[in-house]
Formats: sequence, C-alpha cells, structure tokens
Amino acid sequence: MRSQTRLSSLVIAIVLIAGCSKQPETPSLPTATIENLKVAHACAFKRSAWYAAAANEADADRLGNLAVMFRAVARSQAIHAARYEQLLLSKSATTDTSKSACPPLGTTRQALKMAQSLERTQVEGLYPPMVATAVKESWPEAAESFRHAGLAGATHQSLLKEAADRNGTVPMRQYRICSACGNILLGPDTTCTVCSANAFETL
Ligand SMILES: [Zn+2]
Repeated sequence: MRSQTRLSSLVIAIVLIAGCSKQPETPSLPTATIENLKVAHACAFKRSAWYAAAANEADADRLGNLAVMFRAVARSQAIHAARYEQLLLSKSATTDTSKSACPPLGTTRQALKMAQSLERTQVEGLYPPMVATAVKESWPEAAESFRHAGLAGATHQSLLKEAADRNGTVPMRQYRICSACGNILLGPDTTCTVCSANAFETL
C-alpha cells in the first residue's frame, strides 16, 4: 500500500514536471525600445513636415536649390518614420506623434541654422542610447534602424552645414535617397553606403 502511494506520488511529480516543461516560453517585450521607437517615430515624422515647410519657405525666397535639399532631408526623415512605424507594428504597438515637437520655423536662414542643431541632437544625443537599449533588449532590427538613422543624420548635418556656410545658395545637384534607410547619396554609388540596398528615390 505504502509503495503504491509512493508510486502514485512519483507519477504525479513526473506529470507535473512534464507539464511545466511544456509551458510555452513568453519572451518579454522590449518595452524600453518600443517607447524609444515611439519617440524616434514622432521626431522623424514631425521633422519631415518641418523640412517640407522649410522647403516651401526657401522656394518663396527664390532659393530653389536649397528647397530641393530640404525636400531630400524631409523624405529621408519620412522614410525613418515609416521604418519605425513598421517595427512598432511588428510588436502590436502604435505610434504616438505627441512624443516629440519641432521648434517654430522662422525665416529660411533661421531654419537652416535650427536644422543643424536638430540634426546634431538626433545624431549625438538621441540615437546612440537607443541603439544601446535595443541591443540590450535583443532587438537587432530596431538597433539597426537607429544606427542607420544616425548615419543618415550625419549626412544631413554635412549638407546643412554646407548650405549654411554658403548662406543658403547651394549648387544644383541630384539627391538620391535610399528607400530602405533614408540615407542621402550624392555620388554615383549603385548601393547605399549605409545599408547596401539598391533602391533609390531621386530628387
Ligand atoms: Zn540605405
């Protein structure tokens, strides 16, 4: 009788252990990166509109080449925003454009000066900690999106600096914007220098 009881206890224990091991593992959500993606999305989304408005202002000031440059940066920011939105959707999260704001536009030359400061803040202050957090939360696609946006932002910075140094009178040129990462290419490269994709939009 005692051995039967022991056997029953053993069977119950084995069943319980087997039952436990069959529990599906639920991966923890990368909550900090989801929040970072919302901020990055809001930032890129609003800045895309801000650069589009700056382009219209540049056109009104008869700075047509500068307007094209602003539109290239606006498109780049829009591609970043779309990429962040896709990543959020992959975790069933939604965007929240209230998480970022842009300063008033001002005159074309004020906008040019402000844009340099905005890009510097994004490249140096916003993206590096977001990359680190996404790596820590084991979300490589998100880390890559922030890294690529930082590299694209560095190109924005150099374009904007050149335009500011020339007081807004930039040369006429063609801008090729990588459809995958938003990087702006001025040279003849057939693949993106940031992400190696080979699809471009041209302005
Ligand atoms: Zn690219």
